[in-house]
Amino acid sequence: MTTATAPEPTKRQLKVVKNAVCTFCGCVCDDIELHADDERIVETKRACILGEAWFKNHTAERHYPDALIDGKESSYDDAVEVAADILHGANMPLVYGLSNTTCEAQREAVWLAELVGATIDSHTSL
Ligand code: SF4
Repeated sequence: MTTATAPEPTKRQLKVVKNAVCTFCGCVCDDIELHADDERIVETKRACILGEAWFKNHTAERHYPDALIDGKESSYDDAVEVAADILHGANMPLVYGLSNTTCEAQREAVWLAELVGATIDSHTSL
């Protein structure tokens, strides 16, 4: 009697990214280790449950147009012009939110707030 052994399942090659930054909440943890296959993140070491959900469900798929003006699709340049006009005319501008935002974008938002004399706040004030 002979026995056959099943072949070992092939292990997927996972790409590992160390020290990834989670921008889901204001803690901005910067020591997350991500493991990803060709399509999505499959493991998030050191992320909390919120960060894990954010990383695993965050996609690069495009669901929305680049810009909207009054709810209608517009070009990015036109949207920037309208946003600049609104900010320039505002009496008490507020730069608010910034969750799910990269460090670089947050830096630019702080710069913009200083430029127009705005108050800046994050969603954590809720
Ligand atoms: S959601 Fe969790 S992992 Fe992400 S920054 Fe906040 S505390 Fe860190």
